[in-house]
This record gives sequence, structure tokens and C-alpha cells, in this order.
Amino acid sequence: MRVVLVGPPGAGKGTQAQFIASHLSIPKISTGDIFRTNVSQGTALGRRAQAFMERGDLVPDEVTIAMVTDRLQEDDTQSGFLLDGFPRTVPQAETLKKMLASWDTRLDVVLELVVDDDEVVRRLSGRRTCRRCGRVWHVLFDPPARRDKCDDCGGELFQRDDDREETIRHRLEVYQEQTAPLVAFYADEGILLGIDATGPVDEITERALSALRRFIR
Ligand code: ADP
Ligand code: AMP
Repeated sequence: MRVVLVGPPGAGKGTQAQFIASHLSIPKISTGDIFRTNVSQGTALGRRAQAFMERGDLVPDEVTIAMVTDRLQEDDTQSGFLLDGFPRTVPQAETLKKMLASWDTRLDVVLELVVDDDEVVRRLSGRRTCRRCGRVWHVLFDPPARRDKCDDCGGELFQRDDDREETIRHRLEVYQEQTAPLVAFYADEGILLGIDATGPVDEITERALSALRRFIR
């Protein structure tokens, strides 16, 4: 199954992606995670992406598309994939469509996680991420047992640079201007499915899976 998750920053895409991908036995491909790994390793890609990410801007399309094109050609994507954070612009969506068509395939469904701005700000301002395994926590909504350590792997938790208040507001504007038009793009394609993404994490996963099951072909 080939699935895209769309929704504003903080909607819970990364949180849900790990559960949905493991239920469907497909790889989760998070462009934000790939960029952050490259930034922390100081690669050429990381150096190109870093300033855009710190400001809360999108990394230019040509850089992002080249990275995703490479990733989608790895062997593990044969039976499908779950994209988290890509596409984020209409040109990215158009390129993805052409790329899949050239491989005689297409997206099955685009799942939109619907949450309002106030909830997004609450979620992002308390988000903590594990430096070792990438697991996402929240200081109030999903706190780890020990304040700065990941329960899963013992790694150190950190607050992302782009989760500061001014940057959060800018990222929401960027979402409205550049990413929200994808909702209409995929509605026109007839593959958009929106779900309410508020409430307990496991209930949202169930909602997502029961919606997705209708699209399994
Ligand atoms: P995204 O990948 O869409 O930016 P994340 O999955 O990183 O969003 O979630 C943002 C923050 O919100 C994290 O701190 C996460 O723990 C928290 N979160 C995710 N889902 C929920 C939920 N259903 N209720 C409350 N907090 C949540
Ligand atoms: P995320 O982890 O999805 O919140 O992404 C963090 C940051 O990585 C974004 O604010 C962008 O700077 C960059 N990024 C991730 N995915 C994309 C994309 N598809 N297009 C452009 N920039 C991206």
C-alpha cells in the first residue's frame, strides 16, 4: 500500500506513522527525520538543508525531491511505503505522481490528520525527541518516566530548534501557504481521506487503520 500522511506540523504525523507503518508492514519514510539525521552527521545534504529548517522554511523542492527519489528506489519500498512529511508543496506532489506513474504505480490514499491551530501549538511546544531512536514524547500528553531520557532506548531527549514559539508560528504560516493546497490537489485526485486527529493516540491509530483498510487493493 502506498500512503501519504498530510497535516500541519504537530498534527501527530510522526507519532501515527510509526504505528500505521508497522501495522501495514511497510516502511515509514519521514523526510524531516532524514534531513535531521543528515544535519547531525554534517553531510552535504544536511549543510544544504540546515538553515531552511532552523528558520522553519521548507527545504527547496529540488533538494527534497532528489532525496526522496533516491529513497523510493531502495528495495524495501516494493510492497509500499508510508510517506510522512512529503510531499509538502504542489510541485513535490506532481513530481511524485509522475515518478510513480513511470514505475507503473500510484498512491492509494492520502490521509489528512485534522487538528486545529491551538492544539498544534500545545503539542509542538511540549514535544521532546529522542536523540538516539527518534521516538517522539510530550512533556504533558505523553511524558517519559524520567524527564530527559527515552523510556524505549535510554537515549537523551531534546527540544527541536524549530519548536520555539516564533518558529512554530512561522511554520504554521508556511503550512497554510505551501502545503494546505495539497488537500485540494488530492481531493481532486479522489484519494483524500480526512480523519479527526484529536484524542488519545491509540484511538487515532484505530481510526486511521479502519479508514485505510477500505483502500487496500
Ligand atoms: P508531526 O510529525 O505531525 O509534526 P508529532 O507526531 O511529532 O507531529 O507530534 C507532535 C507532538 O504532539 C509530540 O510531542 C507528540 O508526543 C504529541 N502528540 C501526538 N499525538 C498526540 C495526541 N493524539 N494527543 C496529544 N499529543 C499528541
Ligand atoms: P518535520 O519533521 O516533518 O516537521 O520537518 C522538519 C523540517 O524539515 C521542515 O520544517 C522543513 O524545513 C524540512 N522538510 C521536511 N520535509 C520537507 C519537504 N517535503 N519539503 C521541504 N522541506 C521539508
